Amino acid sequence: MTGVPYEEWRGRADRLAPYTDHHIDGTFSPSTGSPSTGSPGEMTMPVVSPRDGRTIAHVAAAGAADVDRAVGAARRAFDDGPWPRLAPAERKAALLRWADLVERDREELALLISLEMGKPISEADGIELRAVIGCLRWYAEVADKQLDESPQTGEGSLALVTREPTGVVAAVVPWNFPLTMAAWKIAPALAAGCTVVLKPAEESPLSALHLAALAAEAGLPPGAFNVVNGAGEIAGRALGEHPGVDVVAFTGSAEVGRHFLRYAADSNLKRVWLELGGKSPNIILPDAPDLDAAADTAAWGIFFNAGEMCTAPSRLLVHRSVADRVLERIIARAGTLRVGDPLDPSTEMGPLVSARHHKRVLSYVAAGHDDGARLRTGGPGDGLFLQPTVFDQVKPGMRIAREEIFGPVLAVLEFDDADEAVRLANDTDYGLAAAVWTSDLSSAHRISRSLKAGTVWVNCYEEGDMSVPFGGMKQSGHGRDKSLHALGKYTDLKTTWITL
Ligand code: NAD
Repeated sequence: MTGVPYEEWRGRADRLAPYTDHHIDGTFSPSTGSPSTGSPGEMTMPVVSPRDGRTIAHVAAAGAADVDRAVGAARRAFDDGPWPRLAPAERKAALLRWADLVERDREELALLISLEMGKPISEADGIELRAVIGCLRWYAEVADKQLDESPQTGEGSLALVTREPTGVVAAVVPWNFPLTMAAWKIAPALAAGCTVVLKPAEESPLSALHLAALAAEAGLPPGAFNVVNGAGEIAGRALGEHPGVDVVAFTGSAEVGRHFLRYAADSNLKRVWLELGGKSPNIILPDAPDLDAAADTAAWGIFFNAGEMCTAPSRLLVHRSVADRVLERIIARAGTLRVGDPLDPSTEMGPLVSARHHKRVLSYVAAGHDDGARLRTGGPGDGLFLQPTVFDQVKPGMRIAREEIFGPVLAVLEFDDADEAVRLANDTDYGLAAAVWTSDLSSAHRISRSLKAGTVWVNCYEEGDMSVPFGGMKQSGHGRDKSLHALGKYTDLKTTWITL
């Protein structure tokens, strides 16, 4: 946790002077065309802090012309520039310098994240920035350790199977972990030799722009890494449709993921990788090694980051025989969670990201009531805050059991045996993550094999490492972030056959 006191964070927030222009071709520049019409004139959009509803900056909002400038810069940097042609060890060195600068500006970046999207400052610094720095360093280290193949094809030939960077990558990301989601795409793409245009979410452009300034300071060549801010429907769409983009790496909602598949189909069939939402089941069997730990982890999982987590364990499936005990402990934990100003280092849960999202989450609380679930604790708070909320007596057909809420709202369902738990767990369009708590090794393996999810945790939740892949099955998307597997998203295999 950060050692900076609350007063000091507030003082720094008052003195905030963030970057606000796009970062294109190695330098900051304002919009050159109106987002909706493409006509001349600088265009901006406000960044509103969910902490207090104050506008903390106006950032340039890209129209199609600005996206075209950014893609053009990335295109030139890829087609003619040094980045893809550098020795991998030099790309590694540049990425390591960048990571060092992110570490230097860690508190400043944490403050920007906390202000723009409401994440508690201690988590922005201690969890998000740590993850971003770790990710940049991990892929930097990977850059110069890739080996190509030469299969044995017989005496009369030499076959080479080489990996080549695919080209220009458009990374379009959400606001909930604004820099981690960006780093998971940028770092492997750049390590592989691609060039990148990042479009952050409307809610969280400030941290991304600071990251871009640090990329330039680290010596990444102009055009290798660009950031355009703007509305999804305008700037995101322009990237999705742009013929100069070779790969879209998207994290966000399933709805927008569908748009990107259509943009690709209607333009140049660019490769589209999707990391989408979830409705992850967390199964607690009566033989869990420690029921209290299971309950505490269930509570932590759903309330962490105000429930604005793609992997949030938002469906608790608990065996009827232990449901009361587990639920009581979760409710008790909900009651002690420190909900408040994200700039207070002791805060555990901040506000929801925006008025629009707050309204959406509250509509699910109302739907829970209307559909007959029982509200055990929680509900609206002041401003954009929501109290940690728990519903029990949830039935599988209810909206709060089926739809991604993306807020601190837990739906509790009970089951009588493990087969029923697996059926309930898989009864969803999503397949991002799942967990099972049991002391029985066979049950753990059998159940995790039966769960349709990209990640299954056994007797834990949200554990991970850069070395393990992360991504979804079913409508949670496809392709994997993190690990060596992510490099496959940004590279093409080429076979060169030489007859000797
Ligand atoms: P979103 O889909 O609304 O927006 C994500 C990004 O897409 C933003 O940059 C946005 O500007 C852009 N966008 C929006 N509409 C667009 C359009 N019509 N065309 C092109 N781009 C468009 O998602 P969000 O509200 O920012 O984030 C929440 C969602 O992200 C949740 O569904 C959550 O589960 C998901 N998410 C998934 C993961 C994962 O790794 N699987 C991680 C974090 C968040």
